[in-house]
Amino acid sequence: MIRIHRLYSTFLPSDRDRMEQVKTIFRQSFPGVADYADKIADQLEHPFAAQFLSSRRRVAVLDIDYHHGNGTQDIFYRRGDVLTVSLHGHPNIAYPYFSGFADETGEEGGKGFNLNLPLAEHTDGDGYLKALDRALAALRRYKPSCLIVSLGFDTLKGDPTGSFTLSTRTMTEIGRNIAKLGLPMLFVQEGGYNLRNLRSGVVRLFDGVAQGVASSHP
Ligand SMILES: [Zn+2]
Repeated sequence: MIRIHRLYSTFLPSDRDRMEQVKTIFRQSFPGVADYADKIADQLEHPFAAQFLSSRRRVAVLDIDYHHGNGTQDIFYRRGDVLTVSLHGHPNIAYPYFSGFADETGEEGGKGFNLNLPLAEHTDGDGYLKALDRALAALRRYKPSCLIVSLGFDTLKGDPTGSFTLSTRTMTEIGRNIAKLGLPMLFVQEGGYNLRNLRSGVVRLFDGVAQGVASSHP
């Protein structure tokens, strides 16, 4: 049986009613790890989610924010039990400048479990989707049992902090292709600094996710 729970919510930890709604949906979506639902009251961030779920599931993190996720990379860099994959502006031209290069592939037990796909300054939708295919191929090889998506809308054209030229139509493709992996997914939003892009990007991405989930469970 498949269930699609679509909830997009921003809230403060002091908003108890909203927090209970999120917890309920999380429990339904990740049966067996319901105790995580209580922990999100403290902090809902993707490294935290990955760390917690990794003791129970084979976890992969896919970071599609414009900026390289240097913190996430650091946390899991020496671990082979959490695959981290990131698409981002090349550090030669984009924050944080010092990390996100393709030769950062992990160390010690984590060697080969960190994949960076740094992209050219004015990457468009076609270029981005090609890179996403590489990311998804790596995820398929790893065979995770759940996926945490570090989500950013600062890849869209017109973002004041980004240089890519993605359209909201590309967001639908991104959502659809990720969902076709057929995995339980948790999206945690990070960037996105153009409010109009944020509104339309969220709707278009999750439309794609719903399409992808439906097609992977006919
Ligand atoms: Zn960002």
